Order: sequence, then C-alpha cells, then structure tokens
Amino acid sequence: MASVQCVKCGKEEEPITDTLFMGKLETEIKTKVCKNCWKQWEGMRVMVINEYQVNLGEESGRELVKKQMRAFLNLGESTDTSKLQANYKPPQ
Ligand SMILES: [Zn+2]
Repeated sequence: MASVQCVKCGKEEEPITDTLFMGKLETEIKTKVCKNCWKQWEGMRVMVINEYQVNLGEESGRELVKKQMRAFLNLGESTDTSKLQANYKPPQ
C-alpha cells in the first residue's frame, strides 16, 4: 500500500483516503499529511472554531481556520497559535 511522507509527524504513514472537500488544498494535504495527523487536525479544528469563535459563514472565518490548519500541519504557514497551545489537550 502507498504511504505518505508526512510533514507533520515526520514519518512515513498511511495516507488520507477520505475526500476532504478542501478544494485546491486537497492534493497538497494528501501528498504531505498522513491520516493520523489529519485526524488530529479534525479535533483541533473544533477547538479553533470555539477558541476564536469562528463564523464559518464568513470568508474571514474560513480563512482563519485554513491558516490555523496550515500552521498545525506544517504546511508552510506561520500564524499565532499561542492561544491554542495554551489550551491544547492531547486526545486521550
Ligand atoms: Zn503524520
């Protein structure tokens, strides 16, 4: 089975097989991020939305989530994630 060299965990891991509905980012994410790390982001995403009180109906809200995602997954974005790191609890 194919694997992906993940930029988040640095390991060669199982690729994402689900459709992510991420538009242009979809290919980039799937070639650079493994399934496990994507799962972590899905949990993180909920936190981002809560912490920043993101309105996904607004373009600015969606952009914020996208930025946080790129930063979280090491996709070449640097953004202020201190708010999240302070509150982040790894999944059990
Ligand atoms: Zn990974």
